[in-house]
Amino acid sequence: MWLNLFKRTDKFVALRKELNRWDAAGRTCQLWLRDDDLAAITPQFNRLRALVEKHDVPALLAVIPGQAAPTLGKDTMAVHHFQFAQHGWRHQNHEQPENRKSEFGPARSSAAIRHDMLKGARRMGELFGERYINVFVPPWNNLAPDSMAATSYAGMSRHVSMGKIKLPAGMVETNTHVDLMRWTATPSLQAPDWIAAQLSHYLGRQRKGKDTLPAVGLLSHHLVMDGDGWQFLDELLALTSSYPCVRWAKPSELFHLPVHESGPLRAPLVPAAQALGFT
Ligand SMILES: [Zn+2]
Repeated sequence: MWLNLFKRTDKFVALRKELNRWDAAGRTCQLWLRDDDLAAITPQFNRLRALVEKHDVPALLAVIPGQAAPTLGKDTMAVHHFQFAQHGWRHQNHEQPENRKSEFGPARSSAAIRHDMLKGARRMGELFGERYINVFVPPWNNLAPDSMAATSYAGMSRHVSMGKIKLPAGMVETNTHVDLMRWTATPSLQAPDWIAAQLSHYLGRQRKGKDTLPAVGLLSHHLVMDGDGWQFLDELLALTSSYPCVRWAKPSELFHLPVHESGPLRAPLVPAAQALGFT
């Protein structure tokens, strides 16, 4: 029991040590939060919303446009901590079972990829208007190199992922680096001390100048978070809020997107859609 108690209270030690170094140096480190797979208002979404509002942390919500409830835009009008990005079209895997899952992978023609990307972009515009930011989040963080050209064709000059993907010129990538979840048959929270140590690792590299990331990214999936996951995220956000050196960045800032009073701006997508005959 005492060992368990020690582990519970000890999980943030590495992260505290690292944040103390930033504080002592009088420097500010940036974190950012991305959450995936929004399609409808659910109890889990409301729980995430309550958490980010409690700790005043902005987040990028990756929305599945082809599964989105028709009222999703209206239902999220009063939510001010989230910015919304396109998460594929229907989050549908088209690859063979032995290959890594992808909605926009090598199994598909570039015409089919462009078609789905544009449908998704148009749907995002219909749902969220100017609250939709011009960023593409590939499902399963997997996008074939040829598909990336299609994202800019669809008007999305920014891209977000997890891992290293070679980008065409002109695209901006802002990664997430630490996934809260372990993707086994039943997803569960990664070991809390491992998550904290990973964040500490990436922040340490930033502090030493080994990386020059705009921010260290944390990835969550509200639909599969269990009680342990929610508690951990609550504790992590509380911890970081207690450090003057920590700033949770707005996603639009990280992608160098201008923001005005009513929300983030996005590039107009309509001309590209019309050019392809999607009306
Ligand atoms: Zn997803």
